[in-house]
Order: sequence, then structure tokens, then C-alpha cells
Amino acid sequence: MVKVWVTQMKLRYNDFNTYLRSLFGCRVQKITVDAGLSCPNRDGRLSSGGCIFCNARGSGTGAHSRGQTITDQLLQGKKFLARRYKAQKFLAYFQSFSNTYGPMDTLRRLYDEALAVEDVVGLSIGTRPDCVDVPVLDLLQDYAGHHLIWLEYGLQSASDKTLELINRGHDVQCFENAVRATLNRGIKICAHVILGLPGESRRDILHTARTISDLGIDGVKLHLLYVVKGTPLETLYRQGSYRCLEQQEYIDLVCDFLERIPLEMVIQRLTGDPHPEELVAPQWSREKTETLRKINETLEKRDTWQGSKAGGL
Ligand code: SF4
Repeated sequence: MVKVWVTQMKLRYNDFNTYLRSLFGCRVQKITVDAGLSCPNRDGRLSSGGCIFCNARGSGTGAHSRGQTITDQLLQGKKFLARRYKAQKFLAYFQSFSNTYGPMDTLRRLYDEALAVEDVVGLSIGTRPDCVDVPVLDLLQDYAGHHLIWLEYGLQSASDKTLELINRGHDVQCFENAVRATLNRGIKICAHVILGLPGESRRDILHTARTISDLGIDGVKLHLLYVVKGTPLETLYRQGSYRCLEQQEYIDLVCDFLERIPLEMVIQRLTGDPHPEELVAPQWSREKTETLRKINETLEKRDTWQGSKAGGL
């Protein structure tokens, strides 16, 4: 029965756009906002070097340093996305650095400002699992009573060895504790996972799939590890100590991963979006549409779908 349903879908996985449309009855788009917050793995509290793949921008747009308020950024994003995708509703996506890392009154002011913008129906908040505590979860739980609230935790890998190697500054247990503290509050939980991390085998990646499946989280973002200028990973790459995944290798790993996570888990992303001027390698990572097309095509060829091998790792 599930097979009939899934194979009739346009995509063989539970994609975020379809999920949002089913909730709101229209096109909903995320608008990335830069709140000017920091990260304990950058500001010296844990380290100042950061994760080995991250540069000093921390995935930021730089809008905060250009003086744009949250409201300015959202109004600008609304205009663009309404024109481009005919989007009618929006989620404010706090992406840069760690967006629960700050004084409570600052966080409340930022989130309140975002939710006050017309047609913003919720928040998506990217953070580290060591940057949440009960007061911030209580605040998000309050919002979740009347808005859609996603909390996105960077896990990257469920291997402590890998987390140490990439200088994450937290372990897998920390992620599991954060997820357990967030469950049953009405807050949706998303995990970020990176494929292609140094030293990781297919087996490690499938272990990560099993770990997030067992925790009962609501969504996942998969990222390709690409090399960005000015990062420790660039040094490893140029020394020949790190090899990037080939496109087909990545596609096969994504399909393996999708097959093993529950169909209910919403897929928020299946590859990253490198800034062309910052990208060192692999160049194929710029072909996002092609990669997404091939992922679905590979699932069709295999005659599998998200969840078709769940529980059978
Ligand atoms: S936690 Fe995020 S912002 Fe902080 S160093 Fe790592 S990737 Fe960069």
C-alpha cells in the first residue's frame, strides 16, 4: 500500500515543500535571516577555530553587519520569494551561527520581531545541541502553541570519533540530550547531517541514519561536505589528506540514507548550496538541480523510496 502511494508521488521522499503546502494550503518559503549572533565554537568559549569546514561567515548572509534588521530582511525576502515562487506564507529561518546562543531577552526580541511580520507563520532556528536550555525551550514551546516552530540541531555525524576530528566541540550524547529535552513540547526537531566527512564510511553514515531514526525526530537536512576557502578543511584538501565525494557516490549515499529513515521524517534538504566565490571543491556541488534529479531517478531505478528499508540497517 505504501509502495503504491509513494511511487505515485512526484518525489520518492517526503519533501519539505509538500509538507508545508499540506499544512498551510499554499506555497510557503523559508527566508534566511542573519541575527548577528555568534557560536561558542567560534567566539572562544569552546574554541575559536570552529568546525573544520566552516569559515568565519558561519553560513551567514552578512545582512546583520550591513545594518539590516530582521524586519528589513524578511520584507526583502518576502518580495523576492513571492515573485519567484508565488509564495504566500513564510518561515523566518535563523541560519547564521547558533541562533539560541544569546541572552534570553535578546532571543525573545529577535523571534518576536520575526513573528510580527505579516505572513510569517513560523520560525526555523538553526543551532548547536549544546546551546539550548530549559528557558529557551520554554519560550519556543510558547510560540509553538500558535506558530510552526522548527528547531534545527547540527549533529553532522553520530560518530564521536568524527565529531572530534571535525572539531565540533560536542559529542553525540549532547545531541541526544538536546533532542530528548525538546520532544513533546510541540516544537519540530530537525537534524543536520553531513555526508562525506573525513574518515567516514558508508557504515558510519548508515549508523547516523539509524541514530536519528531511533530518536523520533521530525526532519532531516542532508548536506554534502564541500571545501570552502579559508577553512582547515581546505588545508587538508590541498595537502591531499581529504578527498571529496564524487557526484554518483553522494547520490548513492543519499539514497541509502533515505531508504533507512522513516517515511514520516520530513526531508528539508538533500544537498548544500555553496557560495560559488568561496567554493574550492567539488565543482559538481554547484549542480544542485541535477543532483536532486539524479537522487529521485536513482530511487526509481532501485525501485525503493524513503523508509523502504527502515529498520533493516
Ligand atoms: S557550530 Fe556552526 S557556526 Fe559554529 S563553527 Fe561549527 S559550523 Fe560554524
